[in-house]
Formats: sequence, C-alpha cells, structure tokens
Amino acid sequence: AKEFGRDNFQFYAPEFNSSAHEKFLLQGELRNALARSEFALLYQPQVDLRSGQIVAVEALVRWNHPARGLVSPMTFIPTAEETGLIVPIGDWILHEACRQNKAWQRAGLPPVTVCVNVSARQFREKNLIDRVVNALKESGLEARYLELEVTESLIMQDFELAVATMNGLQGLGVQISIDDFGTGYSSLSALKTFPVQRLKIDKSFIDDLATDENDQAVTSAVISLGQKLNLRVLAEGVETDDQVAFLRKNNCDEMQGNYFSKPLSAGDLGKLIAKG
Ligand code: C2E
Ligand code: CA
Ligand code: CA
Ligand code: CA
Repeated sequence: AKEFGRDNFQFYAPEFNSSAHEKFLLQGELRNALARSEFALLYQPQVDLRSGQIVAVEALVRWNHPARGLVSPMTFIPTAEETGLIVPIGDWILHEACRQNKAWQRAGLPPVTVCVNVSARQFREKNLIDRVVNALKESGLEARYLELEVTESLIMQDFELAVATMNGLQGLGVQISIDDFGTGYSSLSALKTFPVQRLKIDKSFIDDLATDENDQAVTSAVISLGQKLNLRVLAEGVETDDQVAFLRKNNCDEMQGNYFSKPLSAGDLGKLIAKG
C-alpha cells in the first residue's frame, strides 16, 4: 500500500519490506539502482538560531524507482546495510554531496557545510578515510566544509575502532556530529573522548517540546552538556514557533526542520542560500 509520507512525496509503507519475496525483489533492484542513476540527494538547511543564517545543509538520499515511485530511505537504507550495498551507494552519496557543495561555492554562494549521514557498515570499512579523501580530492571541496553524521549506536558497536576512525577524519579537517543524540547508549563520560564538534538532538525529544516536561528537561540538559563540552547543539525536526521559542530561551545553537525548510533539491537550496 502507498501512503503519503514526509515531504509529501509518495513513499511506500514499511510493510512493503516485510515479506521475504518483496525484500528479495527490493535487493535486486537496489543492486541496479546506482548504475541506472535512480538516486538523488535533497538538502535540508540547518540554521543558526542567533543569526538566522544557513550554516549547513544535510544531504538526504532519495531513491526514485521507475515503477515503484519514491522509496523512503527508512525502507532501503536498512536493506542496503544488510547486503553491503550501502558501501557503493554511500560512496556515491559522499561524492555527490561534496561535488554539489563545491558547485554552490563556485557559483559564488556563501559557503556552507554539507552534512552526510554515514551508516555503521560504511564506518566499519577499513578504507573509509581513503574514500573521504577521494571525494574531497575529486570535488575540490575543502575538508572543513564536509561533516559526517554518525549515531551513538554506531560508535558504541566498536568504541575503539570508531574513536580511531573519528580521529583520522578529524586529522583531515572533516567535522563530525552525533546524530539522533539521546536515543542511543553512549555514556556521558565517553562523550568527552569523542572527537566530535556537534550534537544533534533527536526529533523525538523535540516533537512535544512545547508541552512535555520530560522532553524539556532532556533538551535543556543536552544543550548545557554541549556548552560544557564545547560542542555545538542542533535540534532536529523543528516545526513550530513554540519549539523555536524554547530552543532560543535555552541557548540552543542551531535548528533543522520543516519550520525553516523541508529538504530541497540542489537548485532550490542554492536559491535559498543566495538570498542569505
Ligand atoms: P535522519 O538522519 O535523522 O534525518 C532526518 C529525517 O527527518 C529526514 O528524513 C528528514 O527529511 C526528516 N525531517 C527533517 N525535518 C523534519 C520535520 O520538521 N518534520 C518531520 N516530520 N520530518 C523531518 P528522511 O530524509 O526520510 O531520512 C530518514 C532517515 O534515513 C535519516 O534520518 C537517516 O537515518 C536515513 N538517511 C537519509 N539519507 C541518508 C543517507 O544519505 N545515508 C544514510 N546512511 N542514511 C540516510
Ligand atoms: Ca542525519
Ligand atoms: Ca537525525
Ligand atoms: Ca532521527
């Protein structure tokens, strides 16, 4: 069954993925999708809450299947992980995001950071650093304009390897943020040793921020934790005035969400940055 999902695009419902046969078909099609250029990236702005400026954009992948229509990343990313296809697909995403960011800069737009989601499987690949170096070299993008988003659970799966990889990335000048912060199991003492620049508070804490005292407590605690550890803090999934007011009052650094803009095509995002 189809449903109207995020961005008002037609996404297939999760049960699409449930039968073994469907899954098998999906895997086969996923294998061909790169060669057929069926992937595209959208970009969602991240805004500094004090200046109102766009400081970064998050690249979000879309799979435009010729017959099925748009397939949500929540459906195909897990399948891509299981099959290992996330490695070549993730490589394409990294190259495309760097190339696009450099293209905006070459067009004379104010520079922004492009944030790319990295899955656990990609992160565990021994040559991740080489892949990142290649994407930067090929695109000509300076490392400081690339940020990788990793989750707490990814880090905790193999803590030592993750910290070593993050140190290597930081050595290149690439920034790192922790995505979906608060939903994983990273201990606060471990956080101190992560070479990261930014925490992204998960949308599940932001949704009921206007009314839920627990969410307010968690959000303001994460913001002060970030300040004490010298990390920037971004709130994700921001949709309402009340949420923005709470975040401002509690000195949150940045926000991302439909309140400011839904994910946009590269062309539309370029126009938005140009307006300043
Ligand atoms: P995420 O990294 O937490 O990305 C944020 C998701 O929240 C995106 O969904 C975005 O469109 C959505 N979102 C942002 N603001 C709002 C809002 O105000 N309201 C609502 N309702 N939703 C909002 P999307 O694009 O469907 O991506 C879902 C997940 O799929 C991502 O969650 C990420 O885990 C994964 N994903 C997306 N693109 C990539 C990618 O290029 N690589 C990898 N490995 N994973 C990706
Ligand atoms: Ca993300
Ligand atoms: Ca997130
Ligand atoms: Ca999330």
